[in-house]
Amino acid sequence: MDEPLNIASAAPLPPDSPFAQLLGSAGTDGDPRTAMILNCLQQAMRGTNTENELTTLRARLESLTRAAGILRDRMVALAAALGACPRCMGENPSCPACGGDGIPGARRPDPEAFDRYVMPAVRRARAVRRATSMQAGLTEEPS
Ligand SMILES: [Zn+2]
Repeated sequence: MDEPLNIASAAPLPPDSPFAQLLGSAGTDGDPRTAMILNCLQQAMRGTNTENELTTLRARLESLTRAAGILRDRMVALAAALGACPRCMGENPSCPACGGDGIPGARRPDPEAFDRYVMPAVRRARAVRRATSMQAGLTEEPS
């Protein structure tokens, strides 16, 4: 056991924690083994925290990967509905799939996807226009 004690560079602890208080008094009892034992305990605790952080990061990565897959599938379906490039919608001049030419309407829209994603919006836009023009017609009528 010739390794140097490493208490000073260990991970920070809440100053009021019992372990921090033990660390603060380490070596003051005249027995250097106390400091070594506390140092080993702190190293073990740090390892546990690292494992917990890795587990948390892995779970977060899996969650983000699932979300990206869902969004990619949705983008592909919407691009099909619009007849656009599924990679960039024609917004990337260096797109390997379309070279930036895949704007909506550049390809034949998928009829089912068009009915699902575009037609409801078209119907809504028409209804809003009708209502707006009728309202404008009412206000413009001579009294
Ligand atoms: Zn593209």
